Amino acid sequence: MKFHVLTLFPDMVMQGLMTSITGRAVQQKKIDIDAVNIRDYTQDKHGRVDDYPYGGGAGMLMQAQPVYDAYRSVADQFPENAKKRVVYVTPQGTPFTQQMAQDFARQDDLILLCGHYEGIDERVLEEIVTDYVSIGDYVLTGGELASMVIVDAVARLVPDVLNNEQSAETESFHGNLLEYPQYSRPEVWHEKAVPEVLLSGNQKKIESWRREQSIRRTLERRPDLLEDASLTLKEQKFLDSLLKEQGESRLKELEQ
Ligand code: SAM
Repeated sequence: MKFHVLTLFPDMVMQGLMTSITGRAVQQKKIDIDAVNIRDYTQDKHGRVDDYPYGGGAGMLMQAQPVYDAYRSVADQFPENAKKRVVYVTPQGTPFTQQMAQDFARQDDLILLCGHYEGIDERVLEEIVTDYVSIGDYVLTGGELASMVIVDAVARLVPDVLNNEQSAETESFHGNLLEYPQYSRPEVWHEKAVPEVLLSGNQKKIESWRREQSIRRTLERRPDLLEDASLTLKEQKFLDSLLKEQGESRLKELEQ
């Protein structure tokens, strides 16, 4: 899979992504990342890529021409009728989720467009963008960090990028549950012992304990996820018992 990041700060993107797991995946040719400098495509003789917004208002806006030409430099590499997925990272987009990452990971190419200043001239967005994606309800100075978040989350779902295929399957959000708590050596640290079941060697018991912990943790931290979680009948009963406990302790609190 190849990521094409259209940006005014290609070094920032490449420095961030060429380290750790994504960097190794690029070196091993499991993925490819190309940061395209939008400034290289401006027709302004002073190298400008921004201008004042019509109608006034704070700040500057990235102009349509350099963004469009940078996009064309990538799009023209694809076969004429190839479906292109172009993600504009913006606080006005749909919140990024693991499900979206899975969807993007099925593409051969993903184009990510990073805004800066006050954003980008609407007309070029209308022409090239297929997906508007936000990484959260806050405003960043530019889209580079948001694009890097998306590349990282998508790249680790590409086959063979993670060493251990299993880890993406047991991690948080798989099946709409958060991951269970984990422990490593030593067995006792700060007088806290590792849960005994994990030392039992009984894999079936360990799996069942982990599923219960996942359900418990999701209920405590992200109960909204449970609505779409895939649970067995036994697990649903376990969840019901936790909900009952929760209700009882709330009642007690109210009575005090
Ligand atoms: N004026 C814009 C608005 O109010 O929607 C915000 C512009 S922001 C200062 C500059 C750029 O940062 C945006 O064009 C976008 O690419 C990126 N950005 C900022 N916050 C983001 C977020 N939460 N998610 C994704 N991208 C974001």
